[in-house]
Amino acid sequence: MKITFPHMGNTYIAVKVLLDGLGLDYYMPPVADRATFERGIENSPEFMCLPFKTIMGNFLDGLDHGADTILFGGGAGQCRLSYYGDLHKEILHSLGYEFNYINLQLNHLTYKEIMDKFGPFIKGISKATVVKAVTESAWTVFAVDGVYAKAAHVRPREVKHGSADGIMQHFEKRVRTENGFGNIRDAIFEAKRALEAIELDPQANPLKIGIIGEIFIASEPFCNLEIEKKLGNMGADVYNTMSVSMWIKHHFINAILPIHGKDHAVEAAQEYMHIDDVGGHGVNTIGNAELMCRNGLDGIVHIYPFTCMPEIIAQSAFHDIEKKYDIPIMTLIVDEMTAEAGYITRLEAFTDMLRMRHDRQKPQSYNVSRSSRAG
Ligand code: SF4
Repeated sequence: MKITFPHMGNTYIAVKVLLDGLGLDYYMPPVADRATFERGIENSPEFMCLPFKTIMGNFLDGLDHGADTILFGGGAGQCRLSYYGDLHKEILHSLGYEFNYINLQLNHLTYKEIMDKFGPFIKGISKATVVKAVTESAWTVFAVDGVYAKAAHVRPREVKHGSADGIMQHFEKRVRTENGFGNIRDAIFEAKRALEAIELDPQANPLKIGIIGEIFIASEPFCNLEIEKKLGNMGADVYNTMSVSMWIKHHFINAILPIHGKDHAVEAAQEYMHIDDVGGHGVNTIGNAELMCRNGLDGIVHIYPFTCMPEIIAQSAFHDIEKKYDIPIMTLIVDEMTAEAGYITRLEAFTDMLRMRHDRQKPQSYNVSRSSRAG
């Protein structure tokens, strides 16, 4: 058996740790690869959202490289995710591919479902090995998000411009080629130490910008054209609510534990929409915007893929939120036709406008903590 899996942001690092820990054979599609992306677009219905097309490209690449099993986390919610997984499978079968398909229903995930679907593939592997691999993989998710959050903090404050980007580039190159928890953990610690050693400007007074929206686009640098890096290099301290650790907490840890914590974003959204689900993370987007405004950020970027229904619904609440707090929210809609030059111009215009407002106001204290990001 050879497994393949799609990319979403930095999830591949934890997935590698998990599969290495279980001793399973796998093929990882290349990260941020234009040719794979184009193949996904060619083989998807035109009006499907960008995540669908990107994932399709990963599946095709994986199957072409000898994988016979696809590992995917889909869903059965109110948005098109409800038939996402099935549609991928149908299209791939119509192209002549034969494979096993592990499609975890993320929004109704239970321990039983994980064992039912994953169980046959880990037969013969001891319980202790499974627990160790899952624990190391979960640790990796949170540690990797910590590295990205640290880089976001350093970028607008570093004395030597580009220092954080250089370290992150080296980190990403290393974790793509390393195998096994020990090596990946070393790469994480190395990146953390290097980021901590960067000299910061004590006078820096960066803008505070939040990112909200559809999780795949918000967390996938290839699809969001490296928005965190771009805003950071424009002098903004970036708080991305849609981190992979948030997603894991929401879908895996909450689903498995018998006691569920409160979803603060869903709670905060109730003022604008009396419903706890509009598909995808639409309600979380509204709640995260409200929480970030309460915490006094300078501005918010809302990002989502063209035709994403849950985020279109969420956007309808922004007029009220902007009016209540006098904090600007800019929406960016991306698809395969999004041109980088126009995208950068919009980000620059937004940050320039926020900078003018920021400089008019007295420096204020911010309450948003990176370790407890909204959501
Ligand atoms: S939330 Fe939006 S982008 Fe994600 S699957 Fe649903 S429609 Fe597509």
